[in-house]
Amino acid sequence: MDYGFENGKELLDLCRTRKKNIGQIMALREMEISGKTIEAVRNTMKEKLQIMNAAAKKGLDSEMKSVGGLIGGEARKLNAWNEKNTTLSGNTINEAVARALSVMEVNASMGRIVAAPTAGSCGIIPGVVLTAGERLGLKEDELVEGLFAASAIGLIVVQNATVSGAEGGCQAETGTAAAMASAAAVQMAGGTPVMSLHAAAMAFKNVLGLICDPIAGLVESPCQKRNALGVANAMVSADMALAGIESVIPFDEVVEAMYRVGKALPIAFRETAMGGLATTPTGIAISKKIYPV
Ligand code: SF4
Repeated sequence: MDYGFENGKELLDLCRTRKKNIGQIMALREMEISGKTIEAVRNTMKEKLQIMNAAAKKGLDSEMKSVGGLIGGEARKLNAWNEKNTTLSGNTINEAVARALSVMEVNASMGRIVAAPTAGSCGIIPGVVLTAGERLGLKEDELVEGLFAASAIGLIVVQNATVSGAEGGCQAETGTAAAMASAAAVQMAGGTPVMSLHAAAMAFKNVLGLICDPIAGLVESPCQKRNALGVANAMVSADMALAGIESVIPFDEVVEAMYRVGKALPIAFRETAMGGLATTPTGIAISKKIYPV
């Protein structure tokens, strides 16, 4: 296969020899595998972007109630706070986080989202890509190319580790989403493929060891706020990489380390709701209320 790659090193080699960015390589790989035209492949990704956009807006316009009742209305609250222009962390981050919170509300109320890379982490990529696109004044095609770059990072993680909270903890879910989003943001901002991988490596390192401990076993809390953290992580990592800051540990080694850490996590911290926040007095009380038997 002309555009196949197993890891970050092979991806960077392809970018260098073919003189393409990560998103372009990923789109060509998809074209090769699917047998579709490059236009058809891009159109499919454009549809994903539109679904992300709708989910990112929905929670800002209306209040949704999640199935478990643990989340709902957070996106609107943050958006209203952000509009006062007195936030501590600035408008861009808060706009991105509000979008991520919205997507998570849509997910928790059984609405339509793109599970990239999973439903539990579905707010991070839309939050970062849509907001970066807006801030940089990019065209839709550039956002689509950013999503292809994010996909390349996700593919490498799936091929070499895991994106499942049940297998590798929250680091594998929201950590991967943050890594994907940061690589996309770097590319969208004009950074090099090498910078994208440094950003992805840093985003992963920042949450290495993060456990999965959903209250009452529902993908609501702490998941929604972990998506908020993922957005901030991705954007800060992207900015560091764009500034020329490098990850001390190369991306491929970080992915391997993440997988080893994930496998070493006790089962109580891998989506079983048997540890962490799920077993706090409040977590247990919420669980008993939702499942009163
Ligand atoms: S806590 Fe678990 S279920 Fe929630 S986002 Fe993280 S990995 Fe997914």
